Amino acid sequence: MRSNTKIEFYRHNLDRRDISAASEVLKSIFLTTGKAVRVFEEKFSGYTGCKNTVGVTSCTAALHLALIAWGIGPGDEVITTPMSFCATSNAVLHAGARPVFVDVEESTGNINAELMEKAVTRRTKAIIPVHLYGQMCDMKEIRRIADRRGLVVIEDAAHSIESVRDGIRPGELGDAACFSFYATKNITSGEGGAIATNDSGKAGLIKSLRLHGIDKSAAERYSKIYRHWDMPLLGWKYNMDNIHAALLAGQIERIEKLRAKRERIARRYERAFDGAKGIGLLKPVPGSKHARHLFTIQVASGKRDRLLHSLQQKGIGVAVNYTPIHLLGYYRKNFGHKKGDFPVAEKIGARTISLPLYPKLKPDEADYVISRVLSELPK
Ligand SMILES: *Cc1c(COP(=O)(O)O)cnc(C)c1O
Repeated sequence: MRSNTKIEFYRHNLDRRDISAASEVLKSIFLTTGKAVRVFEEKFSGYTGCKNTVGVTSCTAALHLALIAWGIGPGDEVITTPMSFCATSNAVLHAGARPVFVDVEESTGNINAELMEKAVTRRTKAIIPVHLYGQMCDMKEIRRIADRRGLVVIEDAAHSIESVRDGIRPGELGDAACFSFYATKNITSGEGGAIATNDSGKAGLIKSLRLHGIDKSAAERYSKIYRHWDMPLLGWKYNMDNIHAALLAGQIERIEKLRAKRERIARRYERAFDGAKGIGLLKPVPGSKHARHLFTIQVASGKRDRLLHSLQQKGIGVAVNYTPIHLLGYYRKNFGHKKGDFPVAEKIGARTISLPLYPKLKPDEADYVISRVLSELPK
């Protein structure tokens, strides 16, 4: 490859049909939550197998509303992982509850179920497991613990629409699963999110909470006869609109094809890095279907930032997913967290590099990434 090679960290997969579906909405009279959102929600439910989908503006909003809908608020504790994007625990704070972090498993980076049970107190009301990078947590074990302790389980499935483990999918054993359609996620509308749940009562409540707590949506008010509405509850302004929904519907139909392309790239990376000196990999759990949202390598912490920067200099987009949440300024300051609190998450956070992984990444581009990683890794 030429020396001016530029390999983006991420490229979305919106195609002509998605764009024309959104254009159709723009040419129509009704831009906000209406038919296109209903169509998206039905298609998404068809894919996840969950009875209900509620489209919202982000996964952060989805997590927030799920916590509220299940009655979690001030005085409550919610157990979650520090190895995630700050949205996960920020949503707990938005609900007025306290996030309680528990360290992760070294092999997957997912929350450690054994430690989770030890962190339960009288105030614990819920668990938010995160299916990190697309590898699902052991939901059977998490559900068992939750049932034993009477806890709600809200899955942060921002990385894992397509995941399966032990035949279980996101939203199947959790009370709700929250998804993201943010700009770099597996399917995207720039910004967007959804809650999937088999609890139809809670889905109805969330539909009202996503729009101020009003009992009729704009689409219902916009009918031949004006209908008066009431606001029995205080909600938020988190409703997905028709433009975003139109961008997503077609991607749901292509979602397996898109994942298969990422799977091939991920396997190419795995073949190249497996056993390579100085490089560690998190391996998919045997028998599970990995959503292949992010592909990460682990290198010695003293070498990580040097490799990160030299890859960037070679035109390769890279990222760090994640610096553990408990080490972010706000969490240190307000919760007294410090280095050493969650050593396994910190170890991953200090060693991890995310490489480009998306359907448009060509095999020769992946090979360029591989050769640069192997040659730039500090000795
Ligand atoms: C992206 C992400 C979120 C937040 O999603 P938004 O749609 O941007 O709110 C939450 N959790 C995880 C693990 C994420 O990667």
